[in-house]
Amino acid sequence: TRTQDEEDLPHATKKTMADHLRKYESLFTLTPQRMRMIVEAFTETLELGLNKPNQIVPMIPTFVFGWPTGQEKGDFLALDLGGTNLRVCLVTLQGEGKFEITQTKYRLTEDQKQDDGQKLFDFCAECLNTFVETNMGEGEGQLKPGQCLPLGFTFSYPCSQERIDHGELIRWTKGFGAGNTEGRDVAAMFKKSLEKFQLPIQLTALINDTTGTLIASHYVNPRTKIAVIFGTGCNAAYMEHVKDVPKIENLGIDPAAEMAINCEWGAFDSFEHEHLPRTKYDTIVDDTSNKPGEQAFEKLISGRYLGEILRLVLCELIDEGVLFLGQNTYKLERPYIFDTAFLSLMESDPTDELLMVIGIFTHFFALETTLAERQFFRALAKLIGRRAARLSACGIAAIVSKMGYLEEGCSVGADGSLYNKYPGFADRVHEGLQDIFGDKGRNIITHHAEDGSGVGSAIIAAMTKNRKDAGLY
Ligand code: BGC
Ligand code: MG
Repeated sequence: TRTQDEEDLPHATKKTMADHLRKYESLFTLTPQRMRMIVEAFTETLELGLNKPNQIVPMIPTFVFGWPTGQEKGDFLALDLGGTNLRVCLVTLQGEGKFEITQTKYRLTEDQKQDDGQKLFDFCAECLNTFVETNMGEGEGQLKPGQCLPLGFTFSYPCSQERIDHGELIRWTKGFGAGNTEGRDVAAMFKKSLEKFQLPIQLTALINDTTGTLIASHYVNPRTKIAVIFGTGCNAAYMEHVKDVPKIENLGIDPAAEMAINCEWGAFDSFEHEHLPRTKYDTIVDDTSNKPGEQAFEKLISGRYLGEILRLVLCELIDEGVLFLGQNTYKLERPYIFDTAFLSLMESDPTDELLMVIGIFTHFFALETTLAERQFFRALAKLIGRRAARLSACGIAAIVSKMGYLEEGCSVGADGSLYNKYPGFADRVHEGLQDIFGDKGRNIITHHAEDGSGVGSAIIAAMTKNRKDAGLY
């Protein structure tokens, strides 16, 4: 029995869409057994990165030593160059885990992401200058004569560090491609841009967003042991014993000390593609990206790619003559036009008729849909979103296993658009952890983290300043 809706567009009956769905179900579903195999390979990869320099998953020593005390105090600037925006923050740390923050966001254009790197940093410095003039200029009274503000620069790309105010960009990720930057010290490049404005600001620490999140989460919740970002990109950081990082033995750091490690786990399984369940849609995403072969784990998980994966499945079904027969589909045929936010919206549509799904397809793509098709789209979003969450659980589980946190349990500070906005993402991560570890998986709990790239960056700048003042490394 057909609905009225389907009679208007008879190409997609309920039965055929359900048949198609079965195929995608088997492609995108991760069994607990498969997950455990991934965790095993992942754990070995983490070890390898700690043992030897220059590995695919680089396990970067961050020179952030140990946890904050919660008593860090003072005014700090934070500059956050993430995947989408540029943000400048003034953070006042008040001690006892309390703080105040004033911030401004600036949009980055696609051109700026691809243009010359020094120009990108010039723009960062310019925004910082504007922010300081507006918020701390004469009359605002916040800067005393001779005062120099410490700045934490959150630069959320893989950088290998020799000290905390240094970082050589290993590779751009998240679609960035600014020239003359890979292989260079981005802290030095930024300092050069900063000099042009003669600002009373000193770059104190170059940090990754995950490291900032780790420290900021711990500042307010001391049970935090791991931080993860599931946003435009994906990555994790955790606190490691210096004695367990053989590759930095020669630096003469106290082996009993602790240091945060920026895993850069988005690179897991890059180039070799041995461990992750890639579908042909994932292969297309990879092949057509500006960095084929790289960030293999991230490309299955992060917000930058999920919409594109779904779009590629739809395009295949259009080519097979299953979807949208007789309609003009050119709008849907543009790469990256299907936003990951659409997956969130489809999954959270509360109406029986799936009115929000209708809205997306008519409004953005000028396409009519049947109810059966809409149910299929939603089910597809669910498969892709669920796979991303379960793979994320594999990464978390690898760190938990490596560090032996399962028995006593731990808190995982999490941030990023996917984690914060995608319905059910956190629940699916937790479910995944239980599939991997059994009941004990319940001991590992993710929670929405404090703003790592702003507040975390400021706390790290404060910790660094305190160490320097005390004459430490
Ligand atoms: C970057 C990481 C970053 C993550 C989340 C990845 O693409 O390589 O440095 O932490 O995105 O922003
Ligand atoms: Mg960010």
